[in-house]
Amino acid sequence: MFNVAVILRESAKAWPDKPVAVHSAGRMTYAELDALSDALAEGLVGIGIRPGDTVALQLPNIPQFLVAYFGILKAGAVVVPMNVLLKAREAAYCLATSGSRALITWGGMADEAGKAAAEAGVPDVFVVGTPEDGTVMTPFAELLAPTGPSRPLAAREPVDTAVVVFTSGTTGRPKGAELTHFQLYMNADVPGRLFDVRPDDVVLAALPLFHIFGLSSVLDVCVRFGCTMSLVPRFDAGVALEAIQRDGVTIFDGVPTMFIALLDHPDLDRFDTSSLRVAVSGGAAIPAHVLDAFEARFGVAILEGYGLTETAATATFNTGVDDRRAYSVGRPIWGTDTEIRDDRGNRLPPGRDHVGELVTRGFHVMKGYLNQPEATAEAFTDGWFHTGDLGYVDEDGFFFIVDRKTDLIIRGGYNVYPREVEEVLYSHPAVAQAAVVGIPHVRLGEEVKAFVALKPGESVAAEDLVAYCRDRMAAYKYPRTVEIRDGLPVTGAGKIAKLRLERT
Ligand code: ATP
Repeated sequence: MFNVAVILRESAKAWPDKPVAVHSAGRMTYAELDALSDALAEGLVGIGIRPGDTVALQLPNIPQFLVAYFGILKAGAVVVPMNVLLKAREAAYCLATSGSRALITWGGMADEAGKAAAEAGVPDVFVVGTPEDGTVMTPFAELLAPTGPSRPLAAREPVDTAVVVFTSGTTGRPKGAELTHFQLYMNADVPGRLFDVRPDDVVLAALPLFHIFGLSSVLDVCVRFGCTMSLVPRFDAGVALEAIQRDGVTIFDGVPTMFIALLDHPDLDRFDTSSLRVAVSGGAAIPAHVLDAFEARFGVAILEGYGLTETAATATFNTGVDDRRAYSVGRPIWGTDTEIRDDRGNRLPPGRDHVGELVTRGFHVMKGYLNQPEATAEAFTDGWFHTGDLGYVDEDGFFFIVDRKTDLIIRGGYNVYPREVEEVLYSHPAVAQAAVVGIPHVRLGEEVKAFVALKPGESVAAEDLVAYCRDRMAAYKYPRTVEIRDGLPVTGAGKIAKLRLERT
């Protein structure tokens, strides 16, 4: 029997009075979180939730997220964390696909959540806070039922599904990745050890906890190692800088758009960020230029990791300043295998000329896509998971991501990797964000187009950015059109949402 909620139970025994979460309005200790999540588990059982049932969770980074997450796990039910930005139609899809029996949501989105629950036929909806639009829902507090100390954790098997995370959908309709109790435990334990996370670390929880990067690499890692989380309900560079200063944050985990936003903050110099000891970037490629500028300005190393929802979350990692390679996503985490294969499934040798798909296998890989046997079968070959990412490995086993297979642009027969073009755009001093896509072209098949957002107060003409790229890249690669926007669309996890850019 194994229930991943044991990470909380053990830390609550070891550090009962230590804060597991601090935020602008207070703090919550490990003992309090353990007791509150026990009460939630009891309440869920009281409304008829049984081990194996699913319960959806749609909350920002507030203490109740932690209570609900561990409460659902302790009851033996499966957690379905949902993006707080989902509209009713999208949320209803996740609720219905996962067969959720209950939903825990919050006042700020009660209207959409209520509609979604009605559409998907979810019988019980609980709300944190007061619905802003007057929707009537059962208060979350009513779900907390009295229970004795250290209520036993529901017995689960290591291979049982603990969490279903819907992929964020940058490449299509979301699929629910089934993540097991053992997988989540190992993916908190192994990267945390490799990375030397310590109980006195204070980790900035600015990544959304409903996304796998926040859920596994921030929440699970912190609770496994008895750290304190500094909760930022919704990422904003100013709020994050304030939290770093106020709470003495030592570790910052972020996606590249967050590093960019911190660096570009107009009042950056006002904040004391000297408590930081290290930063971790993942979720998307961090432009070399941003990495260098951040390290120089904040005086800490950025360790880059790579993974997917399906690998919950880390597959490869640069584990420390003494064990990293510039612009690499690191080596496979302990006990797992990752390799590069060509289209015919042959393993490719090391070297930057041998670009192929990353495939990976080990405890970190999901069980499959919920209720989608065909999609699951397509994603695996002999136990190896196909990531859909293109890259290469060097002689020392460090991996480099070139791009996503689906983002590859084929212009007149030549392969153009958007990331390479984006890197050039990011090196321009006026550029804050860049996304390069292929647009249909009658003769060439595809043409290269860039969308760009500028740094505050900067101005540059689109033609000048085209010329800037033309001077630095082969003729077949540089974008023939650059469109300047006020800002680029981002996913709930903060990644640039290429699919939402109009391809004309
Ligand atoms: P969807 O799977 O629906 O398209 P998504 O890609 O945002 O959405 P995630 O599971 O959040 O879903 O992201 C995984 C992807 O993020 C990887 O397949 C890879 O393309 C990208 N990624 C993650 N880390 C890195 C990194 N360090 N460098 C480059 N790309 C990365």
